[in-house]
Amino acid sequence: MKHRWVFLLASGVALLGQDLPQVRELERLGEGGREVLVLGLDAQGFDKLRGHQRKFAYYLYRAAIAGNDIAYLQTHRYALDIKELFEVLYAHREGLDADTKAGIEDYLKQVWVNHGQYRHWTHSKFVPAKLDFAQLQKAVKAAKKGGAQFHFSKGEPVERVLVRLKPHIFDLKVEPVLVNQAPGQDPIKTSASGLYDPGLTLKEIQALPQEAQTRLNVRFARKGKRAVAEPFKIGGVYGEQLDCVAFWLRKASQYVDNEMVEREIEKGGVKVKKMRYEPVAIQKKAVDELVAYYETGDLARFQEHCVAWVQTKGAVDFLNGFHEVYKDPRAVVGSFEANVSLRQDSEPLDRLSQNAFYFEGKMPWKDAWKRAKVEPPVAISVQAIVETGDAGPISPAAYNLPNANDFRKLHGSKNVVLQNVMLAESPEIRQKTLEAFYLPEDQELIRKHGDQARLWQVYLHEVIGHGSGQPDASLGSEDPSVKLGGVYNALEECRAEAVALYQAADPKLAEIGAATVADQPGMTQAMYLQLLTRQLRANGEATDGVLRSAHRQGGQAILNYLIQPGKDFGTSVIQRDGHFYVQVSDAQKARIGVGEILEKLQTFKSMGDRAGAEAFFEQFGSQVNPDWQKDAQARIAAIGRPRETAFVFPALVPVVEEKDGREVLKEVRLESKETLAEQMLRYRAWARSRELAPK
Ligand SMILES: [Zn+2]
Repeated sequence: MKHRWVFLLASGVALLGQDLPQVRELERLGEGGREVLVLGLDAQGFDKLRGHQRKFAYYLYRAAIAGNDIAYLQTHRYALDIKELFEVLYAHREGLDADTKAGIEDYLKQVWVNHGQYRHWTHSKFVPAKLDFAQLQKAVKAAKKGGAQFHFSKGEPVERVLVRLKPHIFDLKVEPVLVNQAPGQDPIKTSASGLYDPGLTLKEIQALPQEAQTRLNVRFARKGKRAVAEPFKIGGVYGEQLDCVAFWLRKASQYVDNEMVEREIEKGGVKVKKMRYEPVAIQKKAVDELVAYYETGDLARFQEHCVAWVQTKGAVDFLNGFHEVYKDPRAVVGSFEANVSLRQDSEPLDRLSQNAFYFEGKMPWKDAWKRAKVEPPVAISVQAIVETGDAGPISPAAYNLPNANDFRKLHGSKNVVLQNVMLAESPEIRQKTLEAFYLPEDQELIRKHGDQARLWQVYLHEVIGHGSGQPDASLGSEDPSVKLGGVYNALEECRAEAVALYQAADPKLAEIGAATVADQPGMTQAMYLQLLTRQLRANGEATDGVLRSAHRQGGQAILNYLIQPGKDFGTSVIQRDGHFYVQVSDAQKARIGVGEILEKLQTFKSMGDRAGAEAFFEQFGSQVNPDWQKDAQARIAAIGRPRETAFVFPALVPVVEEKDGREVLKEVRLESKETLAEQMLRYRAWARSRELAPK
């Protein structure tokens, strides 16, 4: 599960006791700059790593970039062709009129950050804001004249490709939704997702063997009259990309950390104990098993990888694999994502993790659904160096993986907070958002406690939220996510968010230093206000009448539950001067309401009660409130707030030297100076290359 990134609302510098990474606004995309805000990131501390750690990071970095194209293929069957078309046109844009040039550039950048023609978080389709089909045709002609070479998946001529892609680029009505989970509709047939061949139905998928239906790493294709499940692996689906990912991972495997171990060796017929350096076994296993998994598609190998990965705590951390299931209408198949990051000290996070068992005991649900034994979850804070696929350039603030419940029960999970991503901001938009969406009397509170509230909301959500609870014994080995189907994602995000709100007021938090005793009520109040206000605003981001992302449905359910007519949870949405605002008059009453929500959600989850969960989200979670929507849209437009935020990451620059007639990696430098286009065009050049330092 990942936690969405949002703007912080007050200054976070002092809070963390460390310098802010170098961040800046680079550009805005879409009509009036309203679609995407692009921020530059830095990752401090890379130069303090040891030489072999920098090389380890570099090879993992290459593996991350090598897999990026998979995300396009998973979004939509034509998304990679759209990217290819526009990247070639972009390279040959000289000589075009200014409007066409700008139109191509703007659309391409949005396709880049979303990995296709659908918005990353809301799953709704977007079309070029500043380009029409006639301009596109002219640009293709001009590019061909200029000697442009297009490489499309099936080797088709560009004129034919243009006809095929036209409705997918320009027509909002053609396959309008990436992931459709609206009740009463066939989620497979009505979703644009690239994980299923067009025309497949849910019934056909449900007719497949159970193993295929529940598998994390398959794509469903139509072969004649039958649906077949084809695994992601080298030689199979996404084979070309995974082969390259594995190529770089094998190199990374040679640069894991070393540790001193005691070994018994024979010396002149006598056994003696000797200390010597060896690669850290668990870290090496995490990389090697991942390679084996990509080679075979065997999920047992992936499990081995995950066991080692969860336990690995190196200075350089990474993620690489098919994990999150938000882009599958059935919420089963994983999206490719990868990152490389630098670990940093995170004392507050450690203290929270040490107290996970305490918080489990305080959850407001039946004891039978509380874990009897809780190992402190692995929780780390990092600086992201790069994120690709489902993880970037649009990035979550934190994640907690792997997702499988049976795995979590046996081996736990890893919580990672992406510190530099979370703290990135545009000061201008932050200020305007505060003034537009909060009641004047609440703004000072948010300024004072907002950052701390946001940080601890993420910590609590990830470290004690997702991992909490257990299935009812009657479920046996069945995974609740399988029993719950499409509604599982919304339920799980809602549950983790509600855990954060519920536990924010616990005295333990002041004890472990999350806030002083005096500040804790303010922080708690700010957490409720921020989460609920963000949700009110999210109604303005929905393009049709439905909230599609799991996080948004989860937030909407909490907000609607707390303001139910006839109940008093100390929370209301009020109208003042024609605008809607969230008002929390009594955070203690609100907490009672959140406790009720948690009790319900945990019952649905522990019992695998799909009908109950669906009814709950149908009532509270999935519908947009048209009045809030209209008002939020007007306010968002007035302050020019973009819908999404994308990042330009620092670049790792290889320094290569020749040794015995071949190139070797001598050193790796980190630089933060690229634009979005430079970053993405470099990915294009590097993705398929096996050269150490591609030209
Ligand atoms: Zn989450």
